[in-house]
Amino acid sequence: MKKDAKTFKEVAERCTRFALSDECHCDAKNSTSTQESVSCKNCKHYTPDKVCTLDLYEEILENHHL
Ligand code: SF4
Repeated sequence: MKKDAKTFKEVAERCTRFALSDECHCDAKNSTSTQESVSCKNCKHYTPDKVCTLDLYEEILENHHL
């Protein structure tokens, strides 16, 4: 399974459940461009081991041939 920054972004852009994490300590919340922060890594459903607790990540990868 692909797990890189580009793919995280591409999946999140296609995901209907993306929600910016409250615990996100990245610059995303302060960013003037919210587009920049659209990434699974900044999503509240993201976990490092499983990627997506909703199991949407792999589904989106397959459906969009990413
Ligand atoms: S972590 Fe899951 S819910 Fe969040 S944007 Fe990625 S695929 Fe969607």
